[in-house]
Amino acid sequence: MFTTQDIAHIREQVRLWKRQGETVAFVPTMGNLHLGHITLVKEAVKRADHVVVSIFVNPMQFGVNEDLDAYPRTLDADKAALIDAGAELLFTPTPAIIYPKGMDKQSFVEVPAISDELCGASRPGHFRGVATIVCKLFNIVQPDIALFGKKDFQQLMVIKTMVDDLSMPIEIVGVETIREASGLAMSSRNGYLSNEQKSAAAVLKQTMDKMASAIQSDGMIEEAISIATQQLAAAGFKPDYLAVRCADTLDPVSTDHQHLVILAAAYMGNTRLIDNLCFNRE
Ligand code: AMP
Repeated sequence: MFTTQDIAHIREQVRLWKRQGETVAFVPTMGNLHLGHITLVKEAVKRADHVVVSIFVNPMQFGVNEDLDAYPRTLDADKAALIDAGAELLFTPTPAIIYPKGMDKQSFVEVPAISDELCGASRPGHFRGVATIVCKLFNIVQPDIALFGKKDFQQLMVIKTMVDDLSMPIEIVGVETIREASGLAMSSRNGYLSNEQKSAAAVLKQTMDKMASAIQSDGMIEEAISIATQQLAAAGFKPDYLAVRCADTLDPVSTDHQHLVILAAAYMGNTRLIDNLCFNRE
């Protein structure tokens, strides 16, 4: 695997591959890779001739009081895992390479409406930062396909909307969430949790499972949300939001929506965890 911070080098390599009629898959990450990320890379290997990965902790998607500085950076271990998974090219730019003028004078990509609710309501500007970096990385790498985790369900919808709205010639693939044996969704932020908090955090998935069953049996969404909120609080969570939406559009649920998604964000101590669960109403 070749690692570079050089945009021109990435472009040249991808151009060579494409000239030979070969396809390129791209997996953007913020590093501190776990089995969730590696599953994306392995899926990419299956779907394309060459796999490019980026590791960039994107300052534009962090709020002022968030964990940008504390975010775990483990480049050597990440490289070893990526080689194992079959990645061929790793892009590890610095903020100065990505935002040479600084972030204030940087053009940005805004995906309206969907970016302002759920995680967007709690983290103003977060999805603008996500859409902007993913657009920039797409323009640098120019992949045929790009893979994202369903773990970040709203992010996946924002990216799909951006690609559709701006006619980007890239296929976006969503990959199922990889979980610990306890059900806890794997996340780089799980490393902030103590062992006790980690055990308690498994309640998030259990609560969503119970919510889905309740909604399937009696259709009472608001009641299911209220019971689940109490269950999360009893397990030591401070819920940020708990919502049920149409899984295809993220619109509020109406009677004709069958494919639904539960979206949850909750604090365990100072750590903000997110998760989601898709299910069919009947
Ligand atoms: P991140 O490094 O957190 O920005 O994540 C990079 C990519 O990995 C995103 O597309 C995430 O949705 C995806 N990802 C993170 N955690 C998981 C997981 N547990 N299962 C599947 N994909 C994940």
